[in-house]
Amino acid sequence: MSKPNPLLAGLAGRCPNCGEGHLFEGFLKVAPSCEACGADFSKADSGDGPAVFIILIAGFLVAFGAVFTEFTLHPPIWVHLIIWLPATLIISLGLMRPFKGVMLAAQFMNRASEARHDD
Ligand SMILES: [Zn+2]
Repeated sequence: MSKPNPLLAGLAGRCPNCGEGHLFEGFLKVAPSCEACGADFSKADSGDGPAVFIILIAGFLVAFGAVFTEFTLHPPIWVHLIIWLPATLIISLGLMRPFKGVMLAAQFMNRASEARHDD
């Protein structure tokens, strides 16, 4: 069996080692290990990495969309609120799992868990 691309596997929420097992056991909770190949995810920690990228991407999309809408359509403020508040939530939550999967896969690929302070 050939190894999958770890970044694509992480993007899909799959194990970066085998591409078969699940990387997450909840929406964002990382599984302790892969149920298919036994890869250890106990030291996996993406920290604030995914949130930083998502803040930048969602912030750009929502701010650009709100400004564009305001200057082209001039809607009342409540229209902005019912469009852009849910859009912010949907974009943020929609990107969180794939971004966390990619960051954990990159960490797994580069064996970044070996560089910890407690070692
Ligand atoms: Zn696996």
